[in-house]
Amino acid sequence: MEPSSGKLIIFTAPSGAGKTTIVRHLLQKFDQLAFSVSATSRTQRPGEEHGKDYYFLSVEEFRQAIEADSFAEWEEVYQGQYYGTLKQEIQRLWSQGKHILFDIDVQGALNLKKIYQDQAMVVFVQPPSVEALEKRLRGRQTEDEASFRKRIEKASEEMSYAPSCDQVLVNDDLQVALNQAEQIVLSFV
Ligand code: ADP
Ligand code: 5GP
Repeated sequence: MEPSSGKLIIFTAPSGAGKTTIVRHLLQKFDQLAFSVSATSRTQRPGEEHGKDYYFLSVEEFRQAIEADSFAEWEEVYQGQYYGTLKQEIQRLWSQGKHILFDIDVQGALNLKKIYQDQAMVVFVQPPSVEALEKRLRGRQTEDEASFRKRIEKASEEMSYAPSCDQVLVNDDLQVALNQAEQIVLSFV
């Protein structure tokens, strides 16, 4: 990948912690940021748009992209559900002169950090508790029971990675978290 003066600001957390909410706020606030649209093999949720929220691929298409070495990182985040950052996506946003915001799982975040080192910052969004996480995920009403369980089961393990990240952002009171997120971004770009 070509070098660039663009930064990578990578938000990671268990599902339901509030990454999407925080990332959307930052995109609205700062013109110089752009969102890395990931590829995924999971089914599209109502309201999601191909090319805006994700590039929705079949499992077969996703595997072909892995074979073609198209990903900067990819993970089977949940069994049978693949997610990944396309190398082309990073180039697309850098060519627009943007710093890139990511919303990806913790393994993917740490893999990008290994590649991009000081050009990348990993921000772990920490929910106040697993109970709060369950409540938020239920409140979002996007998951069926099986998917809900998979996400909660994975959450404790994911929480143990917080100390490996560059910053920990506690998302308890949302307004406080949004202000802190702005400060974290400003201190890095
Ligand atoms: P993620 O992208 O990490 O899965 P979301 O941003 O979708 O999480 O947030 C999960 C749910 O919790 C959403 O319904 C969102 O509106 C809500 N939420 C986010 N932050 C807070 C907060 N600080 N307090 C209460 N609810 C929150
Ligand atoms: P969701 O299905 O809720 O949109 O995302 C599920 C999980 O996959 C979240 O933790 C999200 O951050 C992660 N994810 C989304 N895109 C990517 C990606 O490109 N790479 C990796 N490693 N994880 C991703």
